Amino acid sequence: MIQRGLLLFFMVAFLLVWPSQAQDNTANVTIHVVQRGETLYRIAQQYGLTVSDLAALNGLLDPSNIKVGQRLLVPIAGNPIPAQPLTHIVQAGETLRSIAQLYNQTIEELAARNNITDINTLYIGQVLALSNAQSPAPSPTQPQPTPIAQVAQAPAPASSANSILYVVQRGDTLFRIATRYGVTVNTLTQANSISDPTLIYAGQQIIIPAGEAPQIALDLPATISQLDVSPTLLVEGKSARIQFTSTVPMNVGGTFLDKTLNVASEESNTRHTIFVGIPVFTSAGIYPVTLVLTDANGAQTSLTLNLQIVAGGYGRESLTIGADQADLLNPNVEAAEQAVLQSVMGRFSPTRYFDGPMGLPAAASITSPFGRNRSYNGGPFDRFHSGTDFAGAPGTPVLAAASGVVVMVDRLNIRGNATIIDHGWGIYTGYWHQTEQYVSVGDIVSTGQVIGTIGSTGRVTGPHLHWELWVNGLPVDPMQWVQQPFP
Ligand SMILES: [Zn+2]
Repeated sequence: MIQRGLLLFFMVAFLLVWPSQAQDNTANVTIHVVQRGETLYRIAQQYGLTVSDLAALNGLLDPSNIKVGQRLLVPIAGNPIPAQPLTHIVQAGETLRSIAQLYNQTIEELAARNNITDINTLYIGQVLALSNAQSPAPSPTQPQPTPIAQVAQAPAPASSANSILYVVQRGDTLFRIATRYGVTVNTLTQANSISDPTLIYAGQQIIIPAGEAPQIALDLPATISQLDVSPTLLVEGKSARIQFTSTVPMNVGGTFLDKTLNVASEESNTRHTIFVGIPVFTSAGIYPVTLVLTDANGAQTSLTLNLQIVAGGYGRESLTIGADQADLLNPNVEAAEQAVLQSVMGRFSPTRYFDGPMGLPAAASITSPFGRNRSYNGGPFDRFHSGTDFAGAPGTPVLAAASGVVVMVDRLNIRGNATIIDHGWGIYTGYWHQTEQYVSVGDIVSTGQVIGTIGSTGRVTGPHLHWELWVNGLPVDPMQWVQQPFP
């Protein structure tokens, strides 16, 4: 309220100070609070303005003399910032009907405005235009205003003080994101330790502190509540979590990407969690998750969610394997070993051992990230790096990334001395190429426990730990699980 009053005050001030520009741009102003280390030049640049414009507007005689905490008026080119949101981002559980209702529009209007011919194609994270007005605020890195940016964001988690996780999309600028959520660019740069506001990239996750969660118009079967899909935007090679509550005990089954889903049901079968892995090489697109809930009387409820999958952008690398190890590239050897891994990590244990983010498996630097498309000895790029590599001197401790049960300690041809830990709920981690292995099958390990040492056993180009993480029978990017994967 105070901020709104202040804004009004400044808008009035703006009219008085700059009447010639203000004629049809009465709302085109925002306030920038000067932060430590900022210069007027820097601020002007951030908003696509000149220093002299900014100085004139704020009555600054000496542009080099600005103070931390000082409030500057910043004009915004283009259309006025509307009081109403311009767009609605589709949340899990919403339909075109419920969204139309929320904004007092007809389904037909909303569908026509967004070129939607089949209302069942609506997907989570889709941005719907609510009016025909253009988005506000073209900004420095975006000279051509695009009508609607593709955005996606997770709903505000109840536990983390109203912050919103936003995934930057192509064409976004920090200014535009800030405007959408009613925060300043500085709030975002500080919350995310961004040193240069012009340097954000598609796919980057941005925390919007104390952001207003979007209005949600749920349209779920009566027996389902608290549906959540995290993250909203799925990425090839990464994991996602679907969670919901049923009002009565339910047995839940489902499919996604032609795979049967494993469902963990707690609280007398009313709280359901599904982890899914998205295979590397999945084409970008919209894919349905189909869930079927069966109650004690055999009555069924089904629910289909459309999820958007985008490319992982993992890049490629060519590797050369010496003649002495060439037999390890034999497809039969590879297939046999893959079958061993599948037989262990394709299972599902209903007990959950992991809790919160995973720890790193070694105090060593990452030399090769997950997902790179690979060619061996000049062959096609038809394989991918199925884990994250950590370089470490032989003998460096290998640590359990999370609590779990050791389910394999073996010596494999390609993966060398390999240990697999079952963390429950279809989540497994694998540790390859070790020298020493200190644990045995059946051991219960805890996060950070030393389970072996880094080595160079198996198909390697040097000593390192290859760390792998499987979800529902698929290897996915393990580092996602280290960085607060599902807020
Ligand atoms: Zn590796």
